[in-house]
Amino acid sequence: MHAVGPEYGFGLYVHWPYCTRICPYCDFNVYAAKDRDREPLVASIVDDIHAHRAKLPDHPKLDSVFFGGGTPSLLTPQQIERLLSAAQESFGLKSNAEISLEANPNDVLTSDIVDWSRAGVNRLSLGIQSLDDEALSFLGRDHTGRDARQAVERAQKQFDNYSVDLIYARPGQTMEAWQQELSETLALGAPHLSLYELTIEERTAFGKRAARGDLVPMQEDDQADLYDLTQEVCEAHGLPAYEVSNHASAPTYQSRHNHIYWASGDWIGVGPGAHGRLTINGQRVATEAAKRPADYKDAKAPGTLELTRQDTATEFLAMALRPTSGLDLQRFETLFGRSIEAETLSNLIDQGLAQHDQNTFRLTQSGRLMADYIASLLVPYE
Ligand code: SF4
Repeated sequence: MHAVGPEYGFGLYVHWPYCTRICPYCDFNVYAAKDRDREPLVASIVDDIHAHRAKLPDHPKLDSVFFGGGTPSLLTPQQIERLLSAAQESFGLKSNAEISLEANPNDVLTSDIVDWSRAGVNRLSLGIQSLDDEALSFLGRDHTGRDARQAVERAQKQFDNYSVDLIYARPGQTMEAWQQELSETLALGAPHLSLYELTIEERTAFGKRAARGDLVPMQEDDQADLYDLTQEVCEAHGLPAYEVSNHASAPTYQSRHNHIYWASGDWIGVGPGAHGRLTINGQRVATEAAKRPADYKDAKAPGTLELTRQDTATEFLAMALRPTSGLDLQRFETLFGRSIEAETLSNLIDQGLAQHDQNTFRLTQSGRLMADYIASLLVPYE
């Protein structure tokens, strides 16, 4: 038994890099869609999926496929179907595989979403971001609060399993306003919510505005208050957190694909700039596809990097502390050959940031707020 690898889940991430317009906070590998011919890129991604099979002859069938981006709801149902057929032909999909598509509200309103189901999609992730028109305009989104509500209603008629994304901790957002917006969103009835605090990255349009002093990010303490409020409101509505930013009404609605990341399973990343993690003959390998679509189409294979045991252990910890299922200490010991210092663990427990239950170490609500920092404290060095 290995400590990481496909026995902890095996997924395929497909990155579709185009968006109708670029949001000012976005730090992803994205490009304006314009009137591009999408076919050559779809064909390159299909080839990439098949090329991965040649390198991974013993990997099992896929547990999940995730179409992310970018805006993969700009793909036609036929293109989605072709990409899924490539996954099916090369690796095979488990009969209950989770097939997620990130979708923009406007695409949900204007596409024939029944065709997304027919193509094989069984989970939608809706990029609503807010129900408030002013906030949506600040975030540079091209939909209104009304569009967002209608998109959720439309999605829920077709998909039992769907998620709504919101961005909070926006500059000037009050506790009352967020409580109201979150409660209204919960009332729409989605079984899964992803709630992200707005982060301002340097190289984005917001980052440049912040550097000029034209945008003042929310203070960390205020963000923490909103985070606590978020946990309270979601729990009261029956959607407790099962991970730092993710909430579900029942385990069946938790994202299986994301669980593969948190569990240090294996995933293939295809499409421009996509990252993957693969375990080949016991060696953990990071892959990164060429970022620009033109380079991706020309590339014969993604860049690969063999991860050291230290790198693998660092990633393992950072990922395992995020979900409420927690860190399997025995697995960590198998992976790293040594356990985490008992004193470090008990200090975190004494501070109310973590709990220890048999072989599992999990963060409390206050601990989850600083999951990355805690992970950095636990990493032992070789
Ligand atoms: S739609 Fe999503 S991926 Fe595209 S630019 Fe906006 S935030 Fe980025």
